[in-house]
Amino acid sequence: MTTSFHPPQRTLMGPGPSDVNPRILEAMSRPTIGHLDPKFIEMMDEVKALLQYAFQTKNELTMPVSAPGSAGMETCFVNLVEPGDKVIVCQNGVFGGRMKENVERCGGEAIMVEDEWGKVVDPAKLEAALKANPDASVVAFVHAETSTGAQSDAKTLVEIAHKYDCLAIVDAVTSLGGTPIKVDEWGIDAIYSGTQKCLSCTPGLSPVSFSPAALEKIKNRKTKAQSWFLDLNLVMGYWGGEGKRAYHHTAPINALYGLHESLVILKEEGLENAWARHAKHHLALRAGLEAMGLKFVVDEKDRLPQLNAVYIPDGVDDVAVRSALLNDYSLEIGAGLGVMAGKVWRIGLMGHACNKRNVLLCLGALGDVLSRMNVSVDKESAVGAAQKILAA
Ligand SMILES: *Cc1c(COP(=O)(O)O)cnc(C)c1O
Repeated sequence: MTTSFHPPQRTLMGPGPSDVNPRILEAMSRPTIGHLDPKFIEMMDEVKALLQYAFQTKNELTMPVSAPGSAGMETCFVNLVEPGDKVIVCQNGVFGGRMKENVERCGGEAIMVEDEWGKVVDPAKLEAALKANPDASVVAFVHAETSTGAQSDAKTLVEIAHKYDCLAIVDAVTSLGGTPIKVDEWGIDAIYSGTQKCLSCTPGLSPVSFSPAALEKIKNRKTKAQSWFLDLNLVMGYWGGEGKRAYHHTAPINALYGLHESLVILKEEGLENAWARHAKHHLALRAGLEAMGLKFVVDEKDRLPQLNAVYIPDGVDDVAVRSALLNDYSLEIGAGLGVMAGKVWRIGLMGHACNKRNVLLCLGALGDVLSRMNVSVDKESAVGAAQKILAA
């Protein structure tokens, strides 16, 4: 007979999901109440205010979409792109490619601005594309490219988009809570994130926020959004209606308890402190990985603290190493994605998983597994190099 499922206890240091704070799992086990219960609606208002804090925005239209990060992406595109619209899509990894797919499925035309994987989006190339396509109405790019660990300059890219009268859609799935995102200060028009990366919540929700300019465009669409579920003109009746909320879909009640708790945890720590913690642990992990002889994919100035992509040393069996880490240390690190498959490991330091213990565990475990495979690595100096930074 099939019995209850009991997952093993893992340490999650891949590209997401990250380790979930036990406080969040406890919050999710609280009693389910109705999604129109006044107490639940009070909690939704708090979630909105906490998300405004996390995104650093006063945008009224700030809420979690009831589905994972990919649905947040789709929400931005189906609402802001109408058939025939020209959208400049910057691609420097896997996720920019998905943006292109979204534009095309909305009946739009995607003009691609491509940069090498591992590099950031080049602002000069974006500007050239906007000059060549004066009829473009939207610019889209990924702030933190999880497939490579490159962090693009969102502020500059949004500025350029606005100079050419375009709205800017920003993917912040991996950035939110781990590295600075300032929606209002940077003028971002539409942004989406995910709960399972630096918010350290369970997967399945996608925080989004839309500027007044984006909202104008959504309200004045000539055609209906192609997705009924993600049509913000309808969703707003539930999330946006001041006090008088109407049924649109049943909110994932307990998942939202989890998001609420994760945002309370973020607020308690303080955004700036969370960013600083990610930066510091990244430097420690980096010191250790480099002492071991591993090389980063991304140039030092463009690295994302929460996603460390390193090349797999020549002749090393990617799958064997990751299996040994999982079986012997219950430690998950990420494989390469797309053109990077088999070439890199992606080591995440996201949210609750971004701590001293995990940095040292990862360096110790990787050092052990590699030396058992007869790869010459200096594992003692790796741990020492990291500890030196952590002690500072
Ligand atoms: C993880 C991720 C997504 C997709 O999020 P899901 O929750 O897996 O749907 C989108 N963009 C980026 C940059 C990501 O890292």
